[in-house]
Amino acid sequence: MAENRTGDVEAAVREHILLPAQEMAKLGKATQPVLTHAEGIYVFAEGGRRLIDGPAGMWCAQVGYGRKEIVDAIAHQAMVLPYASPWYMATSPAAKLARKIASLTPGDLNRIFFTTGGSTAVDSALRFSEFFNNVLGRPQKKRIIVRYDGYHGSTALTAACTGRTGNWPNFDIHQDRISFLSSPNLRHAGNRSAEQFLDDLVKEFEDQIEALGADTIAAFLAEPILASGGVIIPPKGYHARFKAICERHDILYISDEVVTGFGRCGEWFASEKVFGIVPDIITFAKGVTSGYVPLGGLAISEKVLARISGENAKGSWFTNGYTYSNQPVACAAALANIELMERDGIVDHAREMADYFAAALASLTDLPGVAETRAVGLVGCVQCMLDPTRPDGNDDDKAFTRKIDERCFELGLIVRPLGDLCVISPPLIITRAQIDDMIAIMRQAISEVGAAHGLQMKEQVDV
Ligand code: PLP
Repeated sequence: MAENRTGDVEAAVREHILLPAQEMAKLGKATQPVLTHAEGIYVFAEGGRRLIDGPAGMWCAQVGYGRKEIVDAIAHQAMVLPYASPWYMATSPAAKLARKIASLTPGDLNRIFFTTGGSTAVDSALRFSEFFNNVLGRPQKKRIIVRYDGYHGSTALTAACTGRTGNWPNFDIHQDRISFLSSPNLRHAGNRSAEQFLDDLVKEFEDQIEALGADTIAAFLAEPILASGGVIIPPKGYHARFKAICERHDILYISDEVVTGFGRCGEWFASEKVFGIVPDIITFAKGVTSGYVPLGGLAISEKVLARISGENAKGSWFTNGYTYSNQPVACAAALANIELMERDGIVDHAREMADYFAAALASLTDLPGVAETRAVGLVGCVQCMLDPTRPDGNDDDKAFTRKIDERCFELGLIVRPLGDLCVISPPLIITRAQIDDMIAIMRQAISEVGAAHGLQMKEQVDV
């Protein structure tokens, strides 16, 4: 019976679903594992096989699965008032959620615009930067500065800001007013120190501003850590120096916290508490509802808004909005999620687990084929390379890593395959013992696949 259901699901997917990141040569051919249910940090596949959800869905299942409080809040809201037009009507869930999020954001980022997910959050933030400069009477100040390896979404504008160049082919991406800076990836520093590397990155930004003219640049859009681009953690002090430059040139600093927000880095938001800056705008999604329903949004600085509202509005209307802005069911889910996180101290727990998680990942570096590990809070990765001296993985490294991911899956752990990285960003409720389980599986998988590739243990190589 279960066999048949799984077969049915696979067939329907093959026949009817266009997947995100679909390899077109395999359209209608490739299958995905079918999940049936989930509990805590575990998801269950066909036949009841239990898997640790290493990537927390898609970096989003903060409180884990089977949380009745969130499910009840969703059911209740769907029953009493499933929808209200955000153009004309107010509802309690959206109002309360906005107030709650404003209390969690840094500085004066107290005005919230709700969207349907991360892409629409970043898209709206960028459209806000256009609107801001047009209302201020400087229509030429429109350029957006982003980084290679950044990821910001799949709308036309956010895809154009995405610096994962592998996403570009065969799409008509309009980048005439978008400029790219180098990825702050320390593996690209060569023989420069971290400080020298940072100085060079800062100089590149300053040179670019000078070349383009500050009066043409609206915004700098940056993830605190470049998540989908490879869990890239910029050198210490990077954000503060970039923020200071933005302030000097009246460039909006948009911090894309779609991944890093809601406890992922051990704080509600990472910008200030982890990276020391108060941006002008923060975008969020994913963890705001722990993935139970879609929701995203942005928090905007009051100081910024004051420049284009009230007496300064010049008759303008911010005509950007979605049918599902302020969606009551989504907002009720987010409120329940945040209440749960507060009640159970889940953000504190994530912060407390961070060192243990980083050390556990780092313990894998004794294995051949592990180039390095990186972690902030509960987001981390293991970079797997046949030749760890390369700055970036080549196709062989990627194939090697894919095999490790597949072996992890067989052994009971989902790992997000990302080029030469095994990405791990577990639900924030994960315990030390469960981290040990993940690492034990990864150790076995990397050792076995490494041995199959003829890699020798590092000690053996050294003698
Ligand atoms: N911004 C960042 C930093 C992301 O990682 C993502 C998605 O992974 C997005 C934006 C887009 O979010 P969504 O997929 O919810 O549209």
